[in-house]
Parts: sequence; structure tokens; C-alpha cells
Amino acid sequence: MTGKVDLLLKGGRVMDPSVGLDAHKDVAFTDGKISAILDSNSPVEAKEVQDVSGCIVCPGLIDLHTHVYWGATGLGVNAEDIAGRSATTTFIDAGSAGAGNFGGLKHFIADNTDLRILGFINISFAGICGFSKKKANLFPECEDIRLLDTDECLEAIEKYRESIVGIKVRIGRYASGSAGMTPLQIAREVGEETGLPLMTHVDFPPPDRDDVLNYLRPGDVLTHCFRPFPNAPLYGNGSIREAVTQARERGIIFDLGHGGGSLSFQVSRKMLEQDFLPDTISSDVHLMSVDGPAFDILVTMSKFLCLGMPLMDVIRASTTRPAEAIQRPDLGNLQVGSPGDAAVLRIEEGRFEYYDVKKELLLGDKRMIAEKMVVKGKIWR
Ligand SMILES: [Zn+2]
Repeated sequence: MTGKVDLLLKGGRVMDPSVGLDAHKDVAFTDGKISAILDSNSPVEAKEVQDVSGCIVCPGLIDLHTHVYWGATGLGVNAEDIAGRSATTTFIDAGSAGAGNFGGLKHFIADNTDLRILGFINISFAGICGFSKKKANLFPECEDIRLLDTDECLEAIEKYRESIVGIKVRIGRYASGSAGMTPLQIAREVGEETGLPLMTHVDFPPPDRDDVLNYLRPGDVLTHCFRPFPNAPLYGNGSIREAVTQARERGIIFDLGHGGGSLSFQVSRKMLEQDFLPDTISSDVHLMSVDGPAFDILVTMSKFLCLGMPLMDVIRASTTRPAEAIQRPDLGNLQVGSPGDAAVLRIEEGRFEYYDVKKELLLGDKRMIAEKMVVKGKIWR
């Protein structure tokens, strides 16, 4: 190393799933980027040194499914309010905005924070416009075909291409009424034209999750993948449905999307027992899930750690895998030259209560705590 680095995280256990690194190292940041991964206690001059011994240092967390269009949509939360407690450096908004209001998500939210905020654009022109705290689904934005305009969506994608990582479509009895597969077909049309992946929400039928999975393309995301009955990934006898296994083989990405109605411990246990881990662990944090049961990505990660998912896999599903899902290989790793984002986590042992969306209690023996995070090469304060 020549010259002074800006920031040094010293003495931590560094875990970078992108290269399978798990070792005690020091991590240096310069000019907003990761500038070196050094053997512990290497002599290096730093403007700021943070002792992180006893902690895990991993890439900044990427929450693939959030709703952070605060103030403009009924379900939006303020990303800055939950970033520090959960070490989330990147929030991917999952369809809060459509062609009619994506510009506001970029200009009023994403451009006014040091956090990285990107979005799946909703195939519905209005975005997720009909949520209130009293009534979760006042208006299903994907039900009325007049709102599902391919040309409007295409034009918005061209205009905000840098901020858009894919197309969101919400289907199911509550998100699209009896429209069945129609909104998904319209979204895929735009996906094929732009080369962008889809993120598909499925709640109650119609449509059937098997039909949805068979219709998705490799690289498309199924969110709420461990939801309870109906449209759970399991048969009633607890075995994984063939359509689910086949979809994984074809390269469909299974995203957790905890939220207020989409994570079942019972389903998760059965899936993990059969070695089917979620590709990405996301919170689906919004106004109705931010105070529980989901809270944020870190609480969701703690639940999976307590359910027996190995630590490196939990971290991969919240860093490297979501980066791959949004086709941003520069993110979700701690390699030299990558953006200077990192999470400093501590695992507390004890007795902790966790709940799923069915109010099932899980008594866990671990809790992941965000000690610090680094955004653009600086400690987030
Ligand atoms: Zn959502």
C-alpha cells in the first residue's frame, strides 16, 4: 500500500461470498471505493481507523424487494430511517412506481440520499397506488388493463434506464383481481423488448404459481417464494412441487419478499430440509411490515440463520445474489475497485422471538445486529 487510505476497518472477520472469502482481514477504503483487503494488522496509514474486532465485515446489504417511495405511495417507508439499523446500503424498490411516477422516485427519493436506490418499474402506469394502513389493498393496480400500457412503460424505461433494474408485475386475486396471467404477459412483452428481468409477485390464485413459473424466463424473479398456502411452493404433503424444482433448474430466481403476508416458517423449514434455499433474502419492507413481522432485511436474515441456513449462504443471499439478479456484478462484493459499501455485523447469542406472517413464533438463539455500515467509502452516521 502506498499513501494514506481514507478508512480502515480493522480486525474483523471478512466474509465475501463472491470469492468465498472468510478470514480475518482489514478492509481499506479510498476515494469512495474499496482500495485493499489486507492481512490483519498490516502496517497501513489511514485517516480513520475503526476497530471492528468481534464483528463480521461483509458487502453492504442489498435488499432486492423494498418499498421506499415514501410520501408518494401509501405503502412507502423512508429508506434512511431503516438503513442504519439493518446495514442496507442498496434498496431496490419493487414496483412502487410505474411509468406515471417513476421520475419522482428518482428525483425526490434516490437523488436525495447517499444510499443507492434503484427500482423495478411497475408494468402498471400508476405503480402500487392503492395501499393504506387500514386496508392493505384498496385498489389492485394490475387489474385494469387500461393501466398496463407497454408503450408508456417502454418510454419510462428508456428515460430512467440507469435507475431501472427490471419490471415488476403483481398478479393474484388481491393484486390483479381475476386478470389471471394477463398482466404477466404484458410485462414479459416489455421485458423481451428491453432485455430486463421481471419480478413477479403472486398472491392468491388466480393464477396458479405453476403456470407463472413455467411462463418466466431464466433470470426472472419470483418473489414471495416461501409464501404460505395457497400458491405455496409445496404440495400438501410437504414435498416441493415439480414446477418449482424445474424453474430453479431453468434459472428462475427465488426471492423471499417477506412482507406482511408472504413468509411462512413452516414452508421455509420444509424447503430448507429439502436443500432448497432462497436465492435472495429480501424484506419486502413497507408501511405494513416495517414494524413487524418483517422489520427489515437484517431481521429476515436472522430468521433464516435461526432456521439453520448457513451464515455464508445467508450473507450471499443478501449481497452477491441480489447483485447478480439486477445484473450489477460491481455490487455485492468486497473486491478492490468496487463501490465502497460494507456492512459491519455482530451475531448476538441469546433467546429471541421471531414471528412469521401466520403469527407462528420461532424462538431463535441468534440475532444479527448492524454495528456500522460504510456507504461510498464513509461510515454512515
Ligand atoms: Zn412488495
